[in-house]
Formats: sequence, structure tokens, C-alpha cells
Amino acid sequence: MRYLVGLIGSGIGPSLTPALHEREAAELGMHCEYRRLDLDVLRVPARDVGRLLDRVRSQGWAGVNVTHPCKQLVLAHLDELDPDARELGAVNTVVFDGSRAVGHNTDTTGFQRSSARFLPDAELDRVVLVGAGGAGSAVAHALGRAGVSSLAVVDVDPARAAAVAAVVGGSAHGPADLPELLTDATGIVHATPTGMAAHPGVPFDVSLLRPAQWVAEVVYRPLETPLVVAARSRGCRVLTGGGMAVFQAVDAFRWFTGVEPDAERMLRHFEEMVR
Ligand code: NAD
Repeated sequence: MRYLVGLIGSGIGPSLTPALHEREAAELGMHCEYRRLDLDVLRVPARDVGRLLDRVRSQGWAGVNVTHPCKQLVLAHLDELDPDARELGAVNTVVFDGSRAVGHNTDTTGFQRSSARFLPDAELDRVVLVGAGGAGSAVAHALGRAGVSSLAVVDVDPARAAAVAAVVGGSAHGPADLPELLTDATGIVHATPTGMAAHPGVPFDVSLLRPAQWVAEVVYRPLETPLVVAARSRGCRVLTGGGMAVFQAVDAFRWFTGVEPDAERMLRHFEEMVR
């Protein structure tokens, strides 16, 4: 089986997703060519994502992953959305099914599968989610599916916090509430860009973390963010952002090909690439 897929987004040069797909396809005796369509390199504005989709569809691609800043813009160009994508109002995977373009969201299933794999039995009584952007809303949706009892959503932008909290009947907060929320939490998910090279640090006081709490990070470049390091040293169970990054690719692989990839092998490949 030979197929062509790709990634549409801005600044996607360092993405590890192409390598994950191509290696796993080869392991399964298939041939995948995974191309980057970087808006910055192509000098295409994000609003033209529909034209890019038409182009790759006419060239016989099996589908594309879509990332920042096109996850919502792409919605207008799709014929159908799966329930996750519809509820979230965001798509990161498009599959061309005959003449139809179908949108999926594997960020949300990716977080769900990653936490099931690496944080089984995580207590979901009182969870604090810091960051209510694209990743945060996918995580909130996954936590809702997993049965979170109480979700406090914190963002510097009150409208974003309120919109994401509404997804799961949670409460919306600003950063000033964090000390009190963290003290009482069973688990914490961090979903702001803080911890990436361009945004160093942790957006809350890590001395508030207790060993009984679990901490999930969504940032995965670097994998060992200051939050991951601090939470481990304080004895918390920790989930890095790598699991979500791999499982979104696992789920997209299945949507593109109909073939179940070996998730454990893809996790090992990811580890090799980042370490
Ligand atoms: P985004 O810009 O859509 O959202 C970030 C949100 O964080 C915004 O709502 C912003 O207001 C909020 N924020 C920023 N600083 C804050 C602070 N100090 N306190 C509270 N809120 C704050 O970004 P995104 O697409 O959601 O990405 C966030 C991070 O997640 C990035 O590092 C990205 O690379 C990573 N990510 C990882 C995966 C994965 O598979 N692991 C998937 C998607 C995104």
C-alpha cells in the first residue's frame, strides 16, 4: 500500500509527526510519504487552507493533518465532521473519502489514550486545567469523556476559560485563583505554551504541588519541561506531552489508512527522536 499524506500549518519544520507516520508505515510493509505544507514557506495565508485542501485532494492524497493556525479555518471546507471534531469545533485530521472530506480531532483522543496509558487510575475528582486554547479545549473534552467530576479551567483570557469550562460544566478562573485551586486539586493539566524555549518557566508556583497529585503536561518540545522536572522532584505522577503527540499520530494513522498501527513501537520511535 502506497499513500501520500501531509501536515498543513505554520512553522511546522521541526514537527516529528512526518517521521512517526513514515517509519510506522514502513514497519507495517506500507509506503507512506508524509509532506509538510508550511504556510510560511509556501507564503500562503491561513485563510487559503481550502485551496490547499482542494489541491492535495486532486493530487490523490489520502488526507492531511492540520495544525495552528488552521484547525478552525478548515471547518468551512469539510463535508462532514466526526462527533469529537463537531463538539470541539476544531479539526486536526482530514481524510478524503471518495469525494468527501471528513474532519476528525485526534488531539482529544490522543490525550485520552495517553493518560489511559501513562496515568491509569488518575483521580479525576478535582482537576485544574491551566490554558484554554487549542490544546486546552481538546484536553477538557477528553477529561469530560473520562468522567472528570470537577474541572477548574484557568486562563489569562477570561472568555477562553469560560468557553472551555462550558464544555464540561466546569468553572472558569483567572491565574489569581491558582494557589487555592492547586492546593485542593487531585490532578493538574498544563496546556499553555510556557515551558517551550520561547516561553521559559512554569505559570504557577510549583511548591504548591504535593506527591499525591498527578501532573499532565501538553508541551512536548522540550519533553522535560521545567514543570515536568519540578513535579517529578516533588513526587507527583507525571505525564509528559510526548504521549499526546504520539497518540494523536496513532489515531490519525488509523484514519488515513484503516490499519491499526503499533502504538508502543511509535512511542519508542518518538523517544529515540527526542532523547
Ligand atoms: P494556544 O495559543 O491556542 O493556547 C494557549 C492558551 O494559554 C491561551 O488561551 C492563553 O491565553 C493561555 N495562557 C498563556 N499563558 C498563560 C498563563 N501564564 N496562565 C494561564 N493561561 C495562559 O496554544 P495551543 O495550541 O493550545 O498550544 C499550547 C501548547 O500545547 C504549545 O506548547 C503546543 O506546542 C502544545 N501542544 C501539544 C500537543 C501535544 O500533542 N502534546 C498538541 C497541541 C499543542
